[in-house]
Amino acid sequence: MANAKQLEKSSLSDLSKVSARLGSNPFFVQAAGGNTSIKEKDTLWIKASGKHLSDASQTNVFVPVDLAQVHRDIGAGADSYRSLYTNGLRPSIETTLHALIPHRVVLHTHPVSVIAQSLIPGSRNHLSALLKGVSWAWIPYQRPGQPLTRAIDEVLKTTASCDVLVLANHGLVVGGDTCETAEALHHEICARLDIKPRPLATADRDYLNRARAAIPHSRLPDNRVTHSLATDAWSLKLAQCNPPYPDHVVFCGTRPLVIRDLDSFAEEAERFERVWGYKASYALFPSRGVVLLESASRSTDAMLQAQAEVFLRVSPDSNVSLLTDGQCSELMNWEAEKYRKSLESVSA
Ligand SMILES: [Zn+2]
Repeated sequence: MANAKQLEKSSLSDLSKVSARLGSNPFFVQAAGGNTSIKEKDTLWIKASGKHLSDASQTNVFVPVDLAQVHRDIGAGADSYRSLYTNGLRPSIETTLHALIPHRVVLHTHPVSVIAQSLIPGSRNHLSALLKGVSWAWIPYQRPGQPLTRAIDEVLKTTASCDVLVLANHGLVVGGDTCETAEALHHEICARLDIKPRPLATADRDYLNRARAAIPHSRLPDNRVTHSLATDAWSLKLAQCNPPYPDHVVFCGTRPLVIRDLDSFAEEAERFERVWGYKASYALFPSRGVVLLESASRSTDAMLQAQAEVFLRVSPDSNVSLLTDGQCSELMNWEAEKYRKSLESVSA
């Protein structure tokens, strides 16, 4: 018969497999986004900040935290948490969210269709119909960390039981007693909230290759869908506004560099840096496509792909809820997010 220690290892092993499956699907999780956890007696095993769920079956991406301590941190409003390990890894920014939810297994992802659904003000009624029979709650946007945890706490206090949270302008949280039930519920919710994307417009490959040759250390995105940020008229319009969800702000900045004339690239890039205080990591060439610049990391590429997928699922000319200037700047200047970004190396 398995002893308690073996059961603990087995459960974390199950979570690793589920996490790797979720993390390997770019429609659910992008780069170091999303996080999963399992509660074992007094310990919460939570993904470490900056680690990728997709790596969970090859390497340990989880750190243990004292569950009672995290609950005390929630009460005290603390926004950083100590691991029981001393290996230098920090528990996820969203540790308090996982601690607060009573389910043993919690999966938090950023599915592109769920995000797209959550961007439309007043979509709660629409989601109620799609999620009929599911115990779920809508959580208005708050910055990840303590503000989001407090918003969830308020809702859970008035809800008898809740297995699913739709986080406006952010993503999805599901809870279950086992990894299997939580994963099955996650997939069911994503299937119910699925939106078919608009067809892709063709990118101008010849022009983009000329741009790549003219701009030092530039490259093209991994996935052709990313070009839709510049070739789909509605996506291009949205892409020039404030981003609609946090990870895009953290890994891609608040605005794109838009280039209408390749000859003016250097001048426009300089002006962008003066205005926004950071180097642009990508450039949109309207009706042509997207070029990644020197400071783009693999995460930049993954987040742009996700943004393209989200925008292709938002109906043209609909009223869209975007982050405010203040919400963007609190994400750009948050030390915990600077740490997470620092773990991403720039990859050519
Ligand atoms: Zn998140």
